[in-house]
Order: sequence, then C-alpha cells, then structure tokens
Amino acid sequence: MKCLILGGGPAGVAAAKTVRKAKPDADIVIATEEVEAPYMRPLLPDLILGDADAEAILDPQGKDLQEKGIRVDRGRVAVRLDTAGRKVTFADGPEASYEVLLVATGGKPDVPASLRKDSPLIRVFDSWKDSLAIKELAANPGAAVVYGPGFLAIEACRALRKAKKEVVWIQPDLPRIGYPIAGELEASILDEVRNRGARIKEGDDIVEVREKGTDGLIVRTGKGEEIPCAMLVVATERIPSVGFASGSGLAMGTGILVDEFLQTNVYGVYAAGDCAEFKVKGRESRINFGWRSAIRQGQLAGENMAGGRKKFGGKQEDYFWALFGFSLADRVKD
Ligand SMILES: Cc1cc2nc3c(=O)[nH]c(=O)nc-3n(C[C@H](O)[C@H](O)[C@H](O)COP(=O)(O)OP(=O)(O)OC[C@H]3O[C@@H](n4cnc5c(N)ncnc54)[C@H](O)[C@@H]3O)c2cc1C
Repeated sequence: MKCLILGGGPAGVAAAKTVRKAKPDADIVIATEEVEAPYMRPLLPDLILGDADAEAILDPQGKDLQEKGIRVDRGRVAVRLDTAGRKVTFADGPEASYEVLLVATGGKPDVPASLRKDSPLIRVFDSWKDSLAIKELAANPGAAVVYGPGFLAIEACRALRKAKKEVVWIQPDLPRIGYPIAGELEASILDEVRNRGARIKEGDDIVEVREKGTDGLIVRTGKGEEIPCAMLVVATERIPSVGFASGSGLAMGTGILVDEFLQTNVYGVYAAGDCAEFKVKGRESRINFGWRSAIRQGQLAGENMAGGRKKFGGKQEDYFWALFGFSLADRVKD
C-alpha cells in the first residue's frame, strides 16, 4: 500500500503511525511544508517566554518516525491535487503518487489585507519560526499590539505580558469557524487578561499600519485611535489550508468535507485535523479543531486508511479544554 500524508502536524503524524501498526509493509510518506521536526503548537507561548527551549516543545509522537520506516519530506508545499491521476504536485518539483491519501494540512492564519505588509515588526503568531521572531522582537523596548478575535490572541497577550511588554489587544469580531469560549467564561478570561495589564479594545479593528522610523509602528484603529508600538502580533483565526485541493473534485466547504469515517467524497482520500470539515447528514457541518482532536482524528483516519471502519464522534469541547492538564482559564491566571 502506498500511503501519502500531506501535513506533519499531530493529525498527520498520528495517522502515519497508526497505518504503520496495521500495515508493517506499507510505503508511508509524510510530505509537509515546515522544515522543523514535529512540534507542539500549544507550547509556542512557552517558547516566546523562554519557559521551554526548542527541544522541549518537540512532539513526542514524532520522535521515532524514522525507526518506524516513515519517511518525512520537509519543506514540501502541495500546490495541486489530481485525484483522477492519484498524484500531488509540490511547489518545488517532483510529484508524489499515492494509493491512499490523507490531507492533514491543518490551518493557516487568516491575515487581513491591511496587515499583509512586508515589515519585520509585524509578525503572525502561528509557527515555531514566528514564535522565535516574536521572542526576539519582544526583547526590544516599546509596546506590543496584538490583533485577533479569539483564543490565539489571548495566548499572545498572556505570553507578551509575562515577558513584561506593555500590551494593547485589538479584538475585532468573533472568530468565524469555532470559538470554544463564550458567556461568563469568556468574560472571566478577558478580565484575567485585563488584570494582568493588557488593554483590550473590543469591537475595534486595524485600518492602517505605518512605519515610524526603523523600529516603530503606528497602528490606526477603526475608531480613529493611533497607537504607537514596537511590534504587531497578528494572532488571527486559523483557516483550513486546503487551497491546493480546489479543482481536484474533493467536496469542500471551509475545509475538506468528510463523513464520520473521515473519508472524502473521493475513494481513497481522507482528511483529518483542523482542515477536515464534518458533514454528517441532517447536522450542520463543523471543524473539530484542537490538538487532541487532531491526534484522535489522525488515529482514526489511519485505521480507516488501513482498511478499518471506525467512526469519529468528537466535538471540539471534548478535546479542547484538557490540554496538558491546563485549561485556557487556568493558563491566563498563570
Ligand atoms: C499558537 C498556537 C497555540 C495553540 N494552542 C492550542 C491549545 O492550547 N489547545 C489546543 O487544543 N489547540 C491549540 N492550538 C491549535 C492546535 O495546534 C491545532 O488544532 C493542531 O495543531 C491541528 O493539528 P493538524 O495536524 O490538523 O494541523 P497543523 O498542526 O496545523 O499541521 C499541519 C501541517 O501541514 C503543513 N501544511 C499546510 N499547508 C500545507 C501544504 N499545502 N502542503 C504541505 N504541508 C502543508 C503545515 O505547515 C503544518 O506543518 C494552538 C495553535 C497555535 C498556532
């Protein structure tokens, strides 16, 4: 069996290891954009703070891939999927063919046009590389502006406050896809963020960012305020990274549509993790995002890719809260 997995996050790695268990002779390749060994995104705030070094945030799941005969091709960005020919084209050359495919490409931050500027002082908060750059900038004097609607912005504020930065959080509308905190819980988390010294500008937006000299920015908000700062952290929602699959015949919503078996509408093609959107008859479709959910989906997809017939029954709340024993509510108090 020739098995290709796109994406080396928790879903892709879990799937590869599960296929290996069931099919000792399978040819398994993970092709993924990032060049780092698999790591735990939820610990990126610790990397910014210096509470964890690069080694400490490596994903234990990913440590024995080579010994298990799973090849990982790093730095490979899928740009086209041909489901009829069963092959994937990458930005950098050779195509890869497959008999069974898993799309586990996760999400990418949805960055508004006004913030897509080529400035070293504007940093997206999503990856290992981003977090090291944020850490470096945070060592400079001056305030940090955080921009984003939800949970990732809370995490960015927490890390930057602990790093003793003055923080202004511009919080536009709620996230589009899923927001696991609401009501009283949300209010108490926002209070904690405020109590730790971040100023929150709810319901505002950024309309312009200009450079001020070489080491400063002026952020202009929709309500007309001008905020001078030394860095801008874009902590926006992660939207499924599935552009390469458009035109492939895969049914898509915001993500790639799958049934309870994590199978797409095309035979032999599965999707799991933050890029998979569940479409179950009679119910609204949803993305069950989150670290544990991605692992669970990866395992199930792996079993089904190897011939199983297991159903995924999760909801994001089942997985999101108990990450490494710390809920978001506890983390902001830390
Ligand atoms: C800063 C931060 C903090 C977080 N904290 C928490 C938390 O506390 N709790 C929680 O539950 N979740 C948290 N999350 C979310 C969690 O990390 C994700 O839900 C989880 O990583 C999803 O796993 P995945 O395998 O689906 O995708 P990802 O982890 O996103 O991995 C997908 C991989 O595919 C690669 N890829 C993307 N497009 C392509 C392409 N075209 N070709 C090849 N490769 C591609 C990506 O570069 C990436 O390496 C956090 C996320 C971030 C960014």
